Amino acid sequence: MMDTSAEKTPVRLAIVGLGKIARDQHLPAIAATPGFTVAAVASRNAALDGVPHFPTIEALLEGAPDVEAVALCTPPQVRRAQAAAALAAGKHVLLEKPPGATVGELAPLAAAATASGRTLFATWHSRFAAAVEPARAFLAEHAVRSVTITWKEDVRVWHPGQGWIWEPGGLGVFDPGINALSILTRILPRPVFLTAAELSFPANRQAPIAADLNFTDEAGTPIRAEFDFRQTGPQSWDIRVVTDDGVLTLSHGGARLDHDGRSLVDGTDAEYTGIYRHFAGLIARGASDVDALPLSLVADAFLLGRRRSVEPFED
Ligand code: NAP
Repeated sequence: MMDTSAEKTPVRLAIVGLGKIARDQHLPAIAATPGFTVAAVASRNAALDGVPHFPTIEALLEGAPDVEAVALCTPPQVRRAQAAAALAAGKHVLLEKPPGATVGELAPLAAAATASGRTLFATWHSRFAAAVEPARAFLAEHAVRSVTITWKEDVRVWHPGQGWIWEPGGLGVFDPGINALSILTRILPRPVFLTAAELSFPANRQAPIAADLNFTDEAGTPIRAEFDFRQTGPQSWDIRVVTDDGVLTLSHGGARLDHDGRSLVDGTDAEYTGIYRHFAGLIARGASDVDALPLSLVADAFLLGRRRSVEPFED
């Protein structure tokens, strides 16, 4: 059978903010996904050989009118203004996670996308990890007794020199922790809500370096999460769910799934190709996908959390 998708003209996409995640994941995923071509880059300090370059998104929107979509790979504090400008110029917009610096800024962006008939996709890359949909399917059929999330990584390894992460809106340890919450809110059959939180702020920083969180749901299920940026040695990105039929463990950020020690999924990293396939489908259908729930849970942690001052953090 003929592959008609291959015959479509690829969407001309611009990368905005050519930094760590753009280089590590977006460029390889775009190259591996039919339907997109990198037509321009907007980044103050970085450029790609052979690709038209602009220092800002405003200059890009002015100077490259044939660009149809933008992938905003900048830090969350500057993304709302970039998304608003791109939507106003008639572009489809992909937002890196978290979708913004506040929950409230998302509704006007979604409304702008609807009004302009363009796609707004607030990505949650961890939801595209291989074990997430199988875990969701399992938990739809089994009662959940408890959930324990352990999300601990070495900030010096994964976020070297990223000053924005420690500024207001940068989320600190919730920058990785929100990935766990994006999985949690996808796999559990019922909505969850926060009941208590303790946030540890380095004395010299505006964002937490660690967080202990308690959630529950209407059934009273105990759900605990520990996030820590001070992990050295092996890293932990695990979610353990005790069910009425054994223990389900998602590990390696959602790539692997075990049931009572028996491997159900041992996936390879394909999160960002999943993201771009989904983006292509949304554009083709004229739809948007904006789920603010993981960011709302983080906002609730800042609302309800006790604040503990801990030793200063130096990069
Ligand atoms: P990054 O490398 O520090 O920043 C990306 C790029 O954004 C920078 O290289 C910079 O490029 C541009 N930028 C930085 N501050 C800016 C500002 N104030 N105004 C305009 N542009 C600015 O960060 P990253 O690790 O790629 O993370 C970006 C987003 O992706 C974050 O929301 C993060 O949560 C998400 N993410 C990161 C990872 C990861 O492993 N790092 C994984 C998944 C998702 P120029 O200096 O050239 O403008």
